[in-house]
Amino acid sequence: MANTQYPESYYAASANAVPPRPVLQDDVETDVCVIGAGYTGLSSALFLLENGFRVTVLEAAKVGFGASGRNGGQIVNSYSRDIDVIERTVGPKQAQLLGEMAFEGGRIIRERVARYNIQCDLKDGGVFAALSAKQMGHLESQKRLWERFGHTQLELMDQRRIREVVGCDQYVGGMLDMSGGHIHPLNLALGEAAAVESLGGTIYEQSPAERIERGANPVVHTPQGKVRARFIIVAGNAYLGNLVPELAAKSMPCGTQVITTEPLGDELAKALLPQDYCVEDCNYLLDYYRLTADKRLIFGGGVVYGARDPANIEAIIRPKMLKAFPQLKDVKIDYAWTGNFLLTLSRLPQVGRLGDNIYYSQGCSGHGVTYTHLAGKVLAEALRGQAERFDAFADLPHYPFPGGQLLRTPFAALGAWYYGLRDKYGL
Ligand SMILES: Cc1cc2nc3c(=O)[nH]c(=O)nc-3n(C[C@H](O)[C@H](O)[C@H](O)COP(=O)(O)OP(=O)(O)OC[C@H]3O[C@@H](n4cnc5c(N)ncnc54)[C@H](O)[C@@H]3O)c2cc1C
Repeated sequence: MANTQYPESYYAASANAVPPRPVLQDDVETDVCVIGAGYTGLSSALFLLENGFRVTVLEAAKVGFGASGRNGGQIVNSYSRDIDVIERTVGPKQAQLLGEMAFEGGRIIRERVARYNIQCDLKDGGVFAALSAKQMGHLESQKRLWERFGHTQLELMDQRRIREVVGCDQYVGGMLDMSGGHIHPLNLALGEAAAVESLGGTIYEQSPAERIERGANPVVHTPQGKVRARFIIVAGNAYLGNLVPELAAKSMPCGTQVITTEPLGDELAKALLPQDYCVEDCNYLLDYYRLTADKRLIFGGGVVYGARDPANIEAIIRPKMLKAFPQLKDVKIDYAWTGNFLLTLSRLPQVGRLGDNIYYSQGCSGHGVTYTHLAGKVLAEALRGQAERFDAFADLPHYPFPGGQLLRTPFAALGAWYYGLRDKYGL
């Protein structure tokens, strides 16, 4: 029997203590079987339990084993593609609903942290940093767009102002979102899992769903047990494999890498990020970074299409970090790891239902910390019979990747190469 542990990340090394969780070895019955204990699965489970459903969560490895326990920890609002694109694709009524929801995930995280007393180093404030006048222009229109949907904690920053919040000379300006921020992502997931259990939900670890028997009374099979449920929520995202072939066909797992320095000490940490905000730049292939509670710099960037693990992560990411902060040239890297997110062709999430009782949400394409928390709420609403917000997501078009599973990786890499060139030359 596989016993899959967390990758050697800073997060695993600084995780809050949790009790061991059982492997499913029985035949159990529940209202909702959730497949995957990342934010999508845990958020769904929590909202369902709060509304009186019985919930069983199956996790192939450990809670937060996937992207939710490895990410940059940045609470970034809205979606990987913005509301103006949604408006052009599906029209104003649906865009209005999705626009109003664009900042809700961040609020859900803060409510969860407060209600369940989750210790995850939550900090307010996220910066979008512009590397060119064109990117600054984009931020200006993004601010107008977001304000149109009622999201107002935003401040445009000129070159002088951004230098006050980021100790880096690369940026021509930026935008500060005080409803953004950052968290220790694995500890958030672990805290949410504890909240699920405090409400009577059950989480089985090392219990991969191997087969779903579909029909009016679906059954999820694991190596040593089964779960009979009224509903299933599929929340395996980039780690799902081919369990649900319809979902694999229209998405592509991609890897992104993160490094963590040794502790920098108060003075150096303050010189980099004086207010302790997190930062992402505005490139298509973007860099993102923030401080940890013990004053290390976590720096991420780079994408590996098709999610192969790169041999030397530090060799890829360290030069990006030194470009932003040359003063870190003698600083040691203590941790380097990779994780997978799920890319869709439109870069918009895919939400829907298969048959009457299998629900799913996947593919937030890189920005998922807030969206996944919202997705859990929207899926739970749909199971309770309130499907207006679920439908707003479900009606977004889903496209298969050109070239199918065989050629989607080279096609996407080609697209990224093109956007990488545009980033490089400021086009
Ligand atoms: C390195 C990295 C950095 C990122 N940084 C950011 C960031 O700073 N801000 C941001 O907004 N987004 C970021 N993201 C994206 C964000 O982390 C993800 O969008 C989000 O965590 C996805 O959550 P999820 O629950 O849908 O999937 P996951 O967290 O991947 O969870 C899926 C879970 O399902 C389990 N599973 C899969 N198949 C099965 C099965 N058959 N049976 C049982 N269990 C199964 C997996 O083991 C896994 O635990 C980053 C992603 C990565 C990889």
